[in-house]
Amino acid sequence: MRELPESVILLAATKGRSVDEIMEAIAAGIRVIGENYVQEAMQKYPEIGKRVEWHFIGHLQRNKVKKACEIFDFIESVDSLKIAREIDKRCGERGKVMPILIEINSGREANKHGVMPEDALPLAREISTLENVKLMGVMTMGPAVSNPEDIRPFFRITKSAFERMRDEFGEEIKYLSMGMTDTWRIAVEEGANIVRIGRGIFGPRD
Ligand SMILES: *Cc1c(COP(=O)(O)O)cnc(C)c1O
Repeated sequence: MRELPESVILLAATKGRSVDEIMEAIAAGIRVIGENYVQEAMQKYPEIGKRVEWHFIGHLQRNKVKKACEIFDFIESVDSLKIAREIDKRCGERGKVMPILIEINSGREANKHGVMPEDALPLAREISTLENVKLMGVMTMGPAVSNPEDIRPFFRITKSAFERMRDEFGEEIKYLSMGMTDTWRIAVEEGANIVRIGRGIFGPRD
């Protein structure tokens, strides 16, 4: 991770990691963490608190949005107008504006969340009318690949959706979140400015 350009945000993906492990990462310089489950984040939040920026990177269920709006500073995985509206409503109640990314299912996989690449811009247009949600870009996971190079086409598809969004909405569309432990170098080559790293920071998951 030492070679990561300074302009790229390093997000530590902390699912399944203990508060102690996360505190150690923070001591080593981590400033942004990503959690996949609201429940798990709720358990860690009282101890970790606002010393880091909290990003939600999992699949958000409607009944968890209220809590998510209390804990998280950023939601990277919005993939429906229904969820965006609920975030708008719950953040409105708190007087908060939530920065969000639209998650794109760049591999068009049936078992993955995210919108199809061609649906990202129509969803962005609807989301842009919401007052308490600030659309700032796109995120993708991409398919599991054994050779990291094989993920490049999916990052390109995501980058192109990002660029079309930026053409339409302007400079507020800032973030392209893609790349994990095995693929972050390729993601950065393809324009990512948020990379989400779990195993590369904390070691293998059990
Ligand atoms: C777990 C996870 C990551 C990090 O994966 P690693 O392979 O451990 O780096 C990134 N993004 C999301 C959405 C994740 O769930």
